[in-house]
Amino acid sequence: MALIVHKYGGTSMGSTDRIRNVAKRVAKWVRAGHQLVVVPSAMSGETNRLLGLAKELSPASTTPEVMRELDMIASTGEQVSVGLLAIALQAEGIPSVSYTGWQVPVATDSSYTKARIESIDDQRVRADLAAGKVVVVAGFQGVDAQNNITTLGRGGSDTSAVAIAAAMKADECLIYTDVDGVYTTDPRIVPEARRLHTISFEEMLEMASLGSKILQIRSVEFAGKYKVPLRVLSSFTPWDIDINEEAKSGTLITFEEDENMEQAVVSGIAFNRDEAKVTLLGVPDKPGIAFQILGPVADANIDIDVIIQNVSHDGKTDFSFTVHRNDYARTMELLQNTVGPATNAAKVAGDPKICKVSIVGIGMRSHVGVASKMFRALSEEGINIQMISTSEIKTSVVIDEKYMELAVRALHKAFDLDQEATAA
Ligand code: ASP
Ligand code: MG
Repeated sequence: MALIVHKYGGTSMGSTDRIRNVAKRVAKWVRAGHQLVVVPSAMSGETNRLLGLAKELSPASTTPEVMRELDMIASTGEQVSVGLLAIALQAEGIPSVSYTGWQVPVATDSSYTKARIESIDDQRVRADLAAGKVVVVAGFQGVDAQNNITTLGRGGSDTSAVAIAAAMKADECLIYTDVDGVYTTDPRIVPEARRLHTISFEEMLEMASLGSKILQIRSVEFAGKYKVPLRVLSSFTPWDIDINEEAKSGTLITFEEDENMEQAVVSGIAFNRDEAKVTLLGVPDKPGIAFQILGPVADANIDIDVIIQNVSHDGKTDFSFTVHRNDYARTMELLQNTVGPATNAAKVAGDPKICKVSIVGIGMRSHVGVASKMFRALSEEGINIQMISTSEIKTSVVIDEKYMELAVRALHKAFDLDQEATAA
């Protein structure tokens, strides 16, 4: 008998028929002798609908008072789905009980709409499991020290599931979703993209932070911190497929470098169009200049990603960085009105139509020439690289948005990602 956490996303919970299917699948696991905690998301579209209602009443307000109410509202999506799933399980003859985040409780800090889980009291859940029940816990939500309802950020049910699995030392956390695993890249862009049987936790973390939307990044951080065995798999297989087959399907996130693991140098290609580039031209190249530019940006709470400073000519240099596209207008305004004049910049320029394409792989640690292979593949397609950033296990380039798909396809091919990796 194992203790297993299942997480079902919004699409899997999208209608009463689908919820019935989830219940049948969970029932199969229970009948195979396992203890189950199930963490569903709100029915698909529901969180958007709820937040949309709030927006009708208060389009732009972000006061703490409004943020508190947003969480009050958004959390009801999951409250409905846990109740429905518990009823569906009971209809299958499986004893079950549902809880909201505050009933568990899942304790969080007070950062409304992006709260962090601080601790989980699992006593109540354990008692129910011991009494033979399936426990259905609302994803995406918790409660702060003052008993205010909080939510964990969009996509936060993944984090709820992994955190519960960590707190309860579950044997495995299965994330059932509308894709059947983690792919070398998005199959909508590269039809030859291949599902990975395993991916290392570090690669998954990079992929999530670089724009792959499969798992909320915090859930991956949690899995890494507490070594939660995590698997991403499809909720669209027939519910009655063989349980052993199901248990091995999808993509397993691994922690140890295992000899039998796929050993591709590059495991995947991530991309996103979420960033915009800004440049200060002709700023004096002197100590403190980067701080003079980026300090005010950080003070305005704007996240900076890729940064590049050119070699100076006649004591002047150009300085570029990227920000989230939502922050583009604000950043440009700040540079034009404040930072530009303060640093004596000759000109401020901006380009919101860029994208970032990244190759990710732990094999990059031990192989040379990976970045140059990337640059060659891009140059063969005539794609100009505007910025480059690297870490131990990834290389990212910023390019013109219109070449994104071409770049992803070229890189997928250059690194043979359409072929099953062989042991290195
Ligand atoms: N329902 C929430 C959202 O749409 C949380 C989740 O689905 O994980 O973001
Ligand atoms: Mg999700």
